Formats: sequence, structure tokens, C-alpha cells
Amino acid sequence: MTGKLEFTDLKAQYAALKERIGARMQAVLDHGQYIMGPEVKELEERLAAWTGAKHCITVASGTEALLIALMALDLRPGDEVITSPFTFAATAEMIVLLGGRPVFVDIEPDTCNLDATRVEAAITPRTRAIMPVSLYGQTADMDALNAIAARHGLAVIEDAAQSFGATYRGAKSCNLSTFGCTSFFPSKPLGCYGDGGAVFTSDDALAQACREIRVHGQSARYTHTRLGVGGRMDTLQCAVVLAKLERFEWELQRRRELGARYHRLLGELGVELLAVRPERECVWGQYTVFVDDRPRVQAALQALGIPTAVHYPKPLHHQAAYAAYAPAEACPQAARAAQRVMSLPMSADLAEAQQDRVVEALAACLRSA
Ligand SMILES: *Cc1c(COP(=O)(O)O)cnc(C)c1O
Repeated sequence: MTGKLEFTDLKAQYAALKERIGARMQAVLDHGQYIMGPEVKELEERLAAWTGAKHCITVASGTEALLIALMALDLRPGDEVITSPFTFAATAEMIVLLGGRPVFVDIEPDTCNLDATRVEAAITPRTRAIMPVSLYGQTADMDALNAIAARHGLAVIEDAAQSFGATYRGAKSCNLSTFGCTSFFPSKPLGCYGDGGAVFTSDDALAQACREIRVHGQSARYTHTRLGVGGRMDTLQCAVVLAKLERFEWELQRRRELGARYHRLLGELGVELLAVRPERECVWGQYTVFVDDRPRVQAALQALGIPTAVHYPKPLHHQAAYAAYAPAEACPQAARAAQRVMSLPMSADLAEAQQDRVVEALAACLRSA
């Protein structure tokens, strides 16, 4: 445990699961069904059952999951989707790629999630969907968002790329709205060894649309009923996720314990913490705190061998690709958070002794401020 502290420790996870992952991958190499092999269906069934959603459609990435969900809703040029500007670019990118308009609504300063109280004012006759992001592994106020969507006939797409395993009033992330879209990027709470993702829905017609869009809009072989994409997840990557599911419950438990422990220890130091609402369980896709003078704190931690990251340094409406969708002064809470958030090392395999090192280093650098 005295080795290098990783921001996300995938090596320790692999060491723990090496035999199972090897056996699962070998089985794919032996049967040779690299595309849409039996592991794809097995994973979809396991994940649908686990989340409680009726359907799980595995896809090539979390980005592709968002694209396919929006295509299944038949998003048209000029259609508006209300979303958070404080997220990874993929959230808004897929809206724009389809000719839609992201309508950025500000975040709650303490959870960094879409502020549901501001959503209704942003609805226009062109609004088609609300796309909250379950940032850092905590869902937004899904009851409030679903109620607004129901009143206005809108879909809700949860960008659950960072929150697989989180809960909201006991129900699982990905099964909280019209669609849940997750990512199996290696460092996400449930990751593969490359790119992968999944769309979840309990609507039969939307699920069928997603399945067709995933394979070039085919309703049967060489029958192209609609426009689609090449959006399948590889059988090998599904095999990796299946192997990782063997200890996923344990990993979730560890993440929750480590998150609570960070909260207790850093809270005692007076660090400004992310708020977690009582009806939600956060899976700590990132363990993120607020600091002033972030460049200095990050450099000081780096000097002590503690890696940190910033999710995200700019809100999307301050990025050149998305500046046209909101004035610079819009969403001031997102802009303020972008200046102050800092993510600390977090993974299920982080040892408490390592976590103590992080806490002590942060304490030292706050003392010297
Ligand atoms: C990671 C991420 C995505 C994209 O997932 P990929 O699998 O990398 O395409 C989308 N949205 C958010 C919030 C993410 O964190």
C-alpha cells in the first residue's frame, strides 16, 4: 500500500479479477462471435434485472447511448433539450450533432446538478426533452424533473455515465426516467477495457427503436427502416463487464464507505463538501470537493504525490463549440463551480491508509494557505 497513489486504481481491480476476466474473454475467443455474441444478451439481461428497467440495450459508448436515445425520440433540427452546462461535452454534443439546441439551465451550487426549480421557466414550444446529468455519481431531483416533464409532455434522459449503481428514493440510476444512458469507459463506476455503454428504458417501442438504430436502422437484416448508426458494443467488452459484475456489489459498498469516510475526515478539516441529498445514494463516480485557489492546492498535492483532476474546468457555454447557445454570463453557479471543483483519488480499491495520505496532504496544504 506504499506504492504510487493512482487517481483511479484499475490495476488493483484487475489483479483481483484476473482469472474471471481472462476466462470470460477466452470464452469469446473460443466461440468467435465477436459481434453480438451471447455475452451481449447475457449482459443486457443482467443489467436490466439489476437496475429494474425493462430493457437494456448495450452500445458502443456512453456518448453513443445519448445519441441513440435522442434519435429514438426522433429529435429534429431546431428541437430544444434542456440540460446542464456543467458536464462532460458529450451531453450537449449529441444534441447539437442532431441539429438540436441545448438549452443550458444552471446548477444547484451544492450538488452541482441541474437545478430542477429553474427548468420550467426554460420550456418553450420547441422543447422535446430534459437531460439531467447524474454528476459525480449523484442523481438530480428526478421526481421534480419527471413531474415537470409529465406536465409538458417531454421525455427525460438521465445522463448516468457517472452514476451506475446510484439510487434515488431506493430506485436505481438508469431506471428513473424515459431513458437512462450510462458509460462503461474504464474509469466509470462500472467499466470495461475500452469503450462501451448502455441505454435503459422501460418503454417497449423506444427500446425497439434503440435496437434498430444501434444497427443502422435495421428492423431485419438489410431492411433499413430508419436512419441509424454503427453503435454496437463488442462481445469482448461485454465479457469484461460480466466478469466485473462478480464483485460490483462489493465495489459499490466500498465506494460508499470511502465516500462517507472522505466526507467525515474532510468535513472535520473544514473542507467545503459536495452535498448529498438524504433520498439519494451517491456512487462517487468522482469524489469532488470545492476549494479556493485551486491551482495552488493542486500543485501542492501533486508535489506530495497525490493526483487530482478537475471535472470540469469550464462550463460548456464557455467552450467555443457551445458558446452560441447561451451568453457568457448565463449559469453563474456553473461558472463558479468550474473554478472551484477538484476531484480526489477514488476507486473501490483505494485503501484507507491511502485515503489518509490524501486527507493529510490536503490538511497540510490548507494549513499553509
Ligand atoms: C463519460 C461521460 C460521457 C461519455 O461517455 P463515453 O463512454 O466516454 O462516451 C457522457 N456524459 C458524462 C457526464 C460522462 O461523464
